[in-house]
Amino acid sequence: MTDFAPASMSFEPGAAGPKGSIPLCVPHIAGNEWEYVKECLDTNWVSSVGPFVDRFESSVADFVGAQFGVATSSGTAALHIALLAAGIQPDDEVLVSDLTFIAPANAIRYIGAWPILIDAEPNYWQMDVQKLSDFLTTGCEWTNRSLINRNTGRRVTAILPVHILGHPVDMDPLLELARRFDLRVIEDATESLGAKYKGRPAGHLGDIGCFSFNGNKIITAGGGGMIVTDNQEYAARAKYLSTQAKDDSIEYIHNEVGFNYRLTNVQAAIGCAQMELLPTFIERKRHIASSYSKLLENVGGLTTMPRADWADPVYWLYTILTDASSRDCMRKLAKKSIQARPLWQPLHLSPVYESIQVEGGNVAEDLNKRALSLPSSVSLTDVEIEEIVSAIIS
Ligand SMILES: *Cc1c(COP(=O)(O)O)cnc(C)c1O
Repeated sequence: MTDFAPASMSFEPGAAGPKGSIPLCVPHIAGNEWEYVKECLDTNWVSSVGPFVDRFESSVADFVGAQFGVATSSGTAALHIALLAAGIQPDDEVLVSDLTFIAPANAIRYIGAWPILIDAEPNYWQMDVQKLSDFLTTGCEWTNRSLINRNTGRRVTAILPVHILGHPVDMDPLLELARRFDLRVIEDATESLGAKYKGRPAGHLGDIGCFSFNGNKIITAGGGGMIVTDNQEYAARAKYLSTQAKDDSIEYIHNEVGFNYRLTNVQAAIGCAQMELLPTFIERKRHIASSYSKLLENVGGLTTMPRADWADPVYWLYTILTDASSRDCMRKLAKKSIQARPLWQPLHLSPVYESIQVEGGNVAEDLNKRALSLPSSVSLTDVEIEEIVSAIIS
């Protein structure tokens, strides 16, 4: 990226961007947000407890059919707390997608555990479950009832699949591997609230699911995250650790190191209003995706976004594959004030994680070179979609 600042800097989520420009993905405030925030201000419930926090937790949990929801200050905090709640220990290894935003790998490092990177599969760009299986069956062995990575000698204890771009990972074979090898499954569903895998909601397929309510996600709370789970012990542990691990709130007794990962009532108020809009947001995202696919279908030099048979995606960011350079295309679109963005640098190429073990990696590298995400805000109009498509064609 040369003449174009990193996407996140040129158009902060929430900022409209330069006048007349089309941003990648910005929030859409269209319901009871004002009313609920005003209620917080009027009642003085502005901080980290309050009725909207509880309501937000139950509305997200209910939406995915989970028994418990625990709100956190960000999606990254949700991932950190999920790993702790699931009992992942320092020096354990966690199998995570190679092609993802960096947050899940960082969360693994926060607890002193190590990521093992699993390449994407070329068809739908999600974690390659065959490579995961190959690693578990040939790269690991059982020693004293622990699953040990032969290469590092460390214990492998969890899988962290990331449902990227609003499309689910092939979870049934992954869950079967998890059962066979006694691994916890923590889903990073931060880009996939509302997506389904064979009719089941993403984020409610493994042991714990994590969501983000950052400004560029499916819905926003300004910022924030949540874990959802059916496991009462995990939920209680997540609540405890995310609220400073307080064992006695009068005497201030703490038996463990906790975190201040609480969501405020004001943020939750925005989140509650956005949850009411979620069904229409999902409908709109799907409409945007099918419009792009229809208009780009017969355009040479590019491939439209794929969808697996098992998936009802939410199309967080509609993404195409270019035969030529995606960076070139991105720069040309930027000149027409249209913000597009390549996919993330695969984690095995990231300077922070270059010494980390990776299974495969070529597919993620190829996708990083060729994929380009197009504007996908819920507020994107049909006229803007046509404008973007003709800019791409030209
Ligand atoms: C956005 C995102 C996160 C982190 O969410 P924050 O709320 O920004 O901390 C984690 N994982 C993935 C894959 C993401 O896209």
